[in-house]
Amino acid sequence: MSLVQNDAARLIVKNHLDQIEAPPSSLTETQKREKMQQIAELLKEHDATIIAHYYCDPEIQELAEATGGFVSDSLAMARFGRDAPQKKLIVAGVKFMGETAKILSPEKTVLMPTLEATCSLDLGCPIDQFSEFCDAHPDHTVVVYANTSAAVKARADWVVTSSCAVEIIDHLDSLGQKIIWAPDQHLGRYIQNKVGAEMLLWDGSCIVHEEFRARGIEQMKALYPEAAVLVHPESPTDVIEMADAVGSTSQLIHAAKTLPHEQLIVATDRGIFYKMRQAAPNKQIIEAPTRGAGATCRSCAHCPWMAMNSLDAIIDSLTSSDLSLHEILVDADLIPLAKKPLDKMLEFTASMKGV
Ligand code: SF4
Repeated sequence: MSLVQNDAARLIVKNHLDQIEAPPSSLTETQKREKMQQIAELLKEHDATIIAHYYCDPEIQELAEATGGFVSDSLAMARFGRDAPQKKLIVAGVKFMGETAKILSPEKTVLMPTLEATCSLDLGCPIDQFSEFCDAHPDHTVVVYANTSAAVKARADWVVTSSCAVEIIDHLDSLGQKIIWAPDQHLGRYIQNKVGAEMLLWDGSCIVHEEFRARGIEQMKALYPEAAVLVHPESPTDVIEMADAVGSTSQLIHAAKTLPHEQLIVATDRGIFYKMRQAAPNKQIIEAPTRGAGATCRSCAHCPWMAMNSLDAIIDSLTSSDLSLHEILVDADLIPLAKKPLDKMLEFTASMKGV
């Protein structure tokens, strides 16, 4: 296994993070209800539905559920968006999720609360550098995580999410294929260790999951010795090694429900607690410690880009006269190329249980 070092891509992520403004202040319960009611009416008026990710703030997930929309992981969001009968999709998440919805349903209008909401994995894998890397290894099958731009997807043979990455790489390995994996190095390493496939890894990472530390979890385990540890595989290897359950967001919610433990130490974005509490209402859910627990930490178990999905921003996406602030557009030439590896994933996973 080898790892591509990419300083230029790391700098892009850092510069982007430096530009993030603080998330809006929290609303009173009455203000929240009023805004939700306004959005419900706007959705009807616009024939629109909300598709939200588990990492969004609880009020956004609550809104999606209350208005007949959907809350899930990126794989299920893609499926829901493709099959939704509405003409407009409001994707509350980050940009690659909006782009995926547009690629799968080019005839629909796809809006996002803000186009500024991106992802360190997407930013850390620029198409030009990635293409060069692929060109240098023409005998490899190119597999990219969903957290990538439309252009990177268009360059790939397969797109995967964390719900199905192990199974798809295992399948490709069984066919004797060598793999280029991008962009998350930790997830790539996890899959490589599990499957034993020959993989060249891009060195991207998630700024949220990379913050979790094995030592912090050890200290937490000392306080809660009976607790199970649940870890998303974008976390560092030594954190994954401490886990009782490793998996995608949907798989971790399922584990929270089915594991016998009464206490759960959870190493993923804290937005997931909203759904985890619904799934396991009587269990104690404990946030795994991160490296940066100080006041200046912008990614302490909550993605700063996911946090941009506010109720006000959703209202703006449905009322603004300037659609360029909200509408996802994907180059028409890229759509068929990016759709191909996405369709392969959707077809492959249609026969998998529990994804
Ligand atoms: S939590 Fe990490 S992987 Fe998810 S959108 Fe944020 S930066 Fe990207």
